[in-house]
Amino acid sequence: MLSDKNRVFTNLYGFQDISLKGAQERGDWEHTGSLMAQGRDWIVDQVQKSGLRGRGGAGFPTGLKWTFMPRQVIPERPHYLVINADEGEPGTCKDRDIIRNEPHKLLEGALLAGFAMGAHVAYIYIRGEFYREAIVLQTAINEARSAGLLGEKACSTDWKFNVELHRGMGAYICGEETALINSIEGRKGQPRLKPPFPAGVGLFGCPTTVNNVESIAVIPTILRRGGEWFAGLGRPKNTGTKVFCISGHVNTPCNVEEEMGISLRELIERHAGGVRGGWENLLAVIPGGSSVPVLPKNICDHVLMDFDSLRDVQSGLGTAAVIVMDRSTDIVQAVARLSRFYKHESCGQCTPCREGTGWLWRMMERMVNGTAHMAEIDVMEQVTRQIEGHTICALGDAAAWPVQGLIRHFRAEIENRITARARAA
Ligand code: SF4
Repeated sequence: MLSDKNRVFTNLYGFQDISLKGAQERGDWEHTGSLMAQGRDWIVDQVQKSGLRGRGGAGFPTGLKWTFMPRQVIPERPHYLVINADEGEPGTCKDRDIIRNEPHKLLEGALLAGFAMGAHVAYIYIRGEFYREAIVLQTAINEARSAGLLGEKACSTDWKFNVELHRGMGAYICGEETALINSIEGRKGQPRLKPPFPAGVGLFGCPTTVNNVESIAVIPTILRRGGEWFAGLGRPKNTGTKVFCISGHVNTPCNVEEEMGISLRELIERHAGGVRGGWENLLAVIPGGSSVPVLPKNICDHVLMDFDSLRDVQSGLGTAAVIVMDRSTDIVQAVARLSRFYKHESCGQCTPCREGTGWLWRMMERMVNGTAHMAEIDVMEQVTRQIEGHTICALGDAAAWPVQGLIRHFRAEIENRITARARAA
C-alpha cells in the first residue's frame, strides 16, 4: 500500500485550498527555478531514471519520448508541448480530478517539461464538457502569470513560458494525439498518418510532444525527490504511483493514488469498499478503460495492476480505469454497448474501422438477443482481427479488443443465448 510520504497528489480530493497559495503550502512551485538551473539534460535524465511510463494509456516511456524532440531549436520551427486533457475514455476520470484539485502541479510540470524540450509554449487541450475544470485551470494559469511563475521570465529564470488553454468539443477521437493537434489547428479532429511523428512534424508543422495530464503533473515531484525515488516504487519497468479510477459495482467508487503493481483485489477491497455483495459476487473487470479486454473473476483473483502484468493476461492497464461488474451484469449487453460507442466515435477515415465498428455493433446486438448463428461467433472474431492493426489510429484496436475479450472468456454465455433462442423458436 502506498504510504502518505510517497504520495504525489496530496490534494486529489480537493479537501484543501486549490489556489496558488494553498498549492505552495503543499510544496508546489518550490525552487522550480533551481530545478531548471540544473539544465535540460538533467531533467530528461531524471525522468528516464524514474522509469515513468505515459499515463494516458499507451504506457510509452515518457523520458524516451522527450528525447525524440530535436536537440536544437530552429527559430522558425519552435517546439511545442501539448498536454492531453481530453480524457474521453469511458470509466476514466483521473485527469479531471487532477485539474480540479491540483492545477498547479500540472502547470509546474508543464514549465519543467516544456523547458526540458526547448518549448516556450504549452497548449492544454481540455475536453469541452470539463467546463468547470477549464475555469479552475484558467484561474490557476492567471495566478501563476501574475506571480511571475509563468510568463517572460518564468520562475525568475531567463526562460519565457506560457500556457494556453484550448477547449475541445467532446469527440472521443480528439484524445488521439494527432487528431488533437489537428483540432487545435482548427481542422477536423481526425488522426494523421504516422510517420511523420509529432516530434518531427507536429503542431503547426513544428516539433511537438503530446503528454497526458497525469504524466506531466508528476514531473515536479519526480525532479524534487529524484528519479530513483520514483523508480523504487512499484515493480521493475512498471514504476511509481498511479491514479486508479474505480467504478461500477463496488460499494464506494473512487479515484485513488496507489503504487503500481498493487493487486486488483486489494485495490478494490481496500479503496472501493469491495465488490457489491462480496468478492465471490464478482463477474468480471475491465481493468484499464473501455478499450481493454475484460477479465473474468478467476484472473481478477490474482492479477497485478501494472502494464506488464495485465499484458500477460491479454488485457492492459490503459488509463487504469477499473470498471467492476458483479454477477447481475449482462456481460454480452455491456460489451455490445461499448461496440456501439466505438461505432459512434469512429472518425470514418479508414475502411476497417468505419465499416468494421458498425459491423461489430450489429453482430453484437444479435449476440445479445440470441438471433445470431453459432458460426457468427467465429466470424465476429475474424472481423476483429481484420480491424486490429489495420487502421490509422488505435480506435480500431479499441473497438476490437473488448469483443475479443468477451469471446475469449464468455463464449459460453453467447452460445447459451443462441441455443435458448433457437429452442424457443
Ligand atoms: Fe478514424 Fe477509426 Fe481510422 Fe482512427 S481507426 S483514423 S478513428 S477511422
